Amino acid sequence: MVRAGIPGRGNFVSDAGAALSTRSLRNVAEDARRNAYAPYSHFHVGAALRSSTGNVYGGANVENASFGVGICAERSALVAAVTAGERDFAELVLVSDATEPAAPCGVCRQALSEFAPALRIVSHGMNGQTAEWSLADLLPHQFKLDEPNRFTE
Ligand SMILES: [Zn+2]
Repeated sequence: MVRAGIPGRGNFVSDAGAALSTRSLRNVAEDARRNAYAPYSHFHVGAALRSSTGNVYGGANVENASFGVGICAERSALVAAVTAGERDFAELVLVSDATEPAAPCGVCRQALSEFAPALRIVSHGMNGQTAEWSLADLLPHQFKLDEPNRFTE
């Protein structure tokens, strides 16, 4: 059930609970992809990030004429979730315009690993194939600072 955001436009927050299926997460990711802003690369990506509490946050890539300013769909969803107070995540589902299932870029891997180093990642390609990884496999040596109180600031 969507309880925040504008359907079809932007981030969604779902309180459907942890039982929300990967299929439902794919629907959220596909809705987000439709709102991707990618006039330069024409590569549209949508993400659905499920927190450990079961809430789901959508994200889309948002490009900019100053290319470095753009943000990937994965970090877009992460920022929405963290802004809502989430700190722990269970699953990320991706859809993109790529033929093969696309893996998160290195920057997104690092960003996600801050909160969920063993995050389950499922990606759907346009060819109908699905890939699944653990973030720990995609980023085996994350950068970390020894900050024991980082979640209690
Ligand atoms: Zn990225």
